[in-house]
Amino acid sequence: MRKLAAGNWKMNGTADSLTEIAALAAATGGATCDILICPPATLIAAMAAAAKDTAVMVGGQDCHAKASGAHTGDISAAMLKDAGAGHVILGHSERRADHGETDADVRAKADAAGAAGLIRVICVGETEAERDAGTTLKIIGRQLAGSVPDGAGAADTVIAYEPVWAIGTGRTPTLNQIAEVHDFMRQTLTDRFGAKAKDMRLLYGGSVKPSNAGEIFATSNVDGALVGGASLKAADFSQIVTALS
Ligand code: PEP
Repeated sequence: MRKLAAGNWKMNGTADSLTEIAALAAATGGATCDILICPPATLIAAMAAAAKDTAVMVGGQDCHAKASGAHTGDISAAMLKDAGAGHVILGHSERRADHGETDADVRAKADAAGAAGLIRVICVGETEAERDAGTTLKIIGRQLAGSVPDGAGAADTVIAYEPVWAIGTGRTPTLNQIAEVHDFMRQTLTDRFGAKAKDMRLLYGGSVKPSNAGEIFATSNVDGALVGGASLKAADFSQIVTALS
């Protein structure tokens, strides 16, 4: 299976940030994994142009569930595709928290993204209170069941396990805790989707940085990473890509 190093720029970046793409491409020339950057929507078209003729792929951070219509400020999956995106992050915990997105909302967006030909990177993850209560696997199981559409397969769907308490905090689960969730996700997806779930990429996300990427990537059923802060600078992200290659 080809691994995936995905970067989530969140609400960061303006046109002058695009120089990072050439730097990233130059620093990861020999990479054997897929490389994806998801900038704010305002930069997708320009980043796709900057990444042309490189191995860097470009994606969105969200899309609307409808194809078009009276939804001021929203962006459809087809619009992301038209701008040059090939992937879209869906159900990030910041969207679930800031915009009240439910599993059903995420699933509807995932259906729309699939219909537009985008690869969905669907995020799941427990809060700290849920982990402390011992309900992590129950929460992940519920989110997978509710957010991942029927018919999902390895070619069109990537799952990112992102413990909410590890995002942007510098804290990470132990490697055993990561393995427990990733093994559980693989089993849960295989139970539902059969053999095609064996190649579905399962990313870990939450305070991944160059210094911890190697040990996280060596963990059971971890097929890559979704990276926030450490994806903004090519100097950092290229080391994570190299650790995965
Ligand atoms: C994220 O936003 O998906 C993320 C994992 O952020 P960070 O790497 O900064 O924790």
